[in-house]
Amino acid sequence: MISYEEARRLVMEQAKILGREKVNFERACGRVSAEEIRSKIPVPPFRNSAVDGYAVRSEDTKAADLPARLKLLAEQPAGEYFRKNLRSGQSVKVMTGAPVPSGADAVIPVEEAKEENGYVLVSRAFRPGENVREAGEDVGRGQVIIRPGMVLKAPHLGLLAACGVGKITVYRRPRVAVLVTGNELCEPGEKLRPGKIYDANSTILRALVESSGAELIFIKRVKDDFNALVRELKTALNRVDVVLTSGGVSVGDFDLVKETARKVGAREIFWQVAQKPAKPLAFYRAKAGRRTAWIFGLPGNPGAVMISFEEYVRPFIKKLSGRFDFWPREIAAVLTAPVRKKRGRLNFIRVRLEESQGAWKVSPADRQESGIISTLTETDGLALIPAEADFLPEGTKVKVHPVEW
Ligand code: AMP
Ligand code: MG
Repeated sequence: MISYEEARRLVMEQAKILGREKVNFERACGRVSAEEIRSKIPVPPFRNSAVDGYAVRSEDTKAADLPARLKLLAEQPAGEYFRKNLRSGQSVKVMTGAPVPSGADAVIPVEEAKEENGYVLVSRAFRPGENVREAGEDVGRGQVIIRPGMVLKAPHLGLLAACGVGKITVYRRPRVAVLVTGNELCEPGEKLRPGKIYDANSTILRALVESSGAELIFIKRVKDDFNALVRELKTALNRVDVVLTSGGVSVGDFDLVKETARKVGAREIFWQVAQKPAKPLAFYRAKAGRRTAWIFGLPGNPGAVMISFEEYVRPFIKKLSGRFDFWPREIAAVLTAPVRKKRGRLNFIRVRLEESQGAWKVSPADRQESGIISTLTETDGLALIPAEADFLPEGTKVKVHPVEW
């Protein structure tokens, strides 16, 4: 059995970029940039007013001449351009965002000016540059605005739009299929017959995959039947980059995932990790034509599914997506209660995270078994309790991975 550190190294060393495509903005949110983009224009593109007011030459508002009386030449809404040069003693009314005419170097806010018979009265001195937004003060011409590996969200897309860029090359999203195994599973909402349970993992995995940036191609429930499993796994491998199976990967009589993976020619990278939960986790590499695809054999218990997804699958998908920030965020936190465990396996403990006086504190949930779903709803993070520890007193510092589910 390999360690958690070794298992995650083996997973992450498999991840490589899948390809690139050019997309329009409407489809770019959440995608990962595959290119460096420099702005071809300065932003803002021209000097403009930060307020509704009057563009003036600041030297006309010198203390000795107050109140200044400046001739109003024109009114300029945003989107229009005043071509003439502003001379001493003159002023142009400008709205927020309207160009500040050449010659002018300050804008008197409406609230601080008085308009009277075609003149503007100013009663205090204005500094050069006051209420003026310089061309390029936000983005300089040629400035790098997007780098490869950046996840494009509203601010990135807004910045690209402001610079006049409408298309961007992004990395291809990993395609994922999910096979949920188990004869005991029935569809939530249907009548529950004796011996059956509702299938929670399909719903869990749909939500997890969709939150990971991957493209979910299909989810299918499959009976614990070798031929059915082989058929479905082959289909999945032909269509996706990553197959996630749930259940059937342990040592029970009907745990057929390992045999199935072997049958379709997948190479086992590992099976079983010295961790709790999700000890039976398996990872395979397969060929689908000339493509490579990977299979995660996730355990059946919902807690093990969620935790192994956060620790292995989500980072793997992020790295396949071209992101650099693929590892779980790690923080140090102090235990508010003692933790007892057996030596030998690293334990992922579900915790509540709380910040107090600049330090993180973690409180373990009262139920930690992998079959328990209820405490997952109150889990902010997973505390990593080292394999060799058997007792950590209250106050011990531990590593915590905040969950992204
Ligand atoms: P297995 O590894 O297939 O033996 O499954 C381990 C445990 O997880 C068993 O108690 C299963 O009933 C349970 N389980 C497996 N799949 C699901 C599922 N989709 N939803 C809820 N529980 C499941
Ligand atoms: Mg099963």
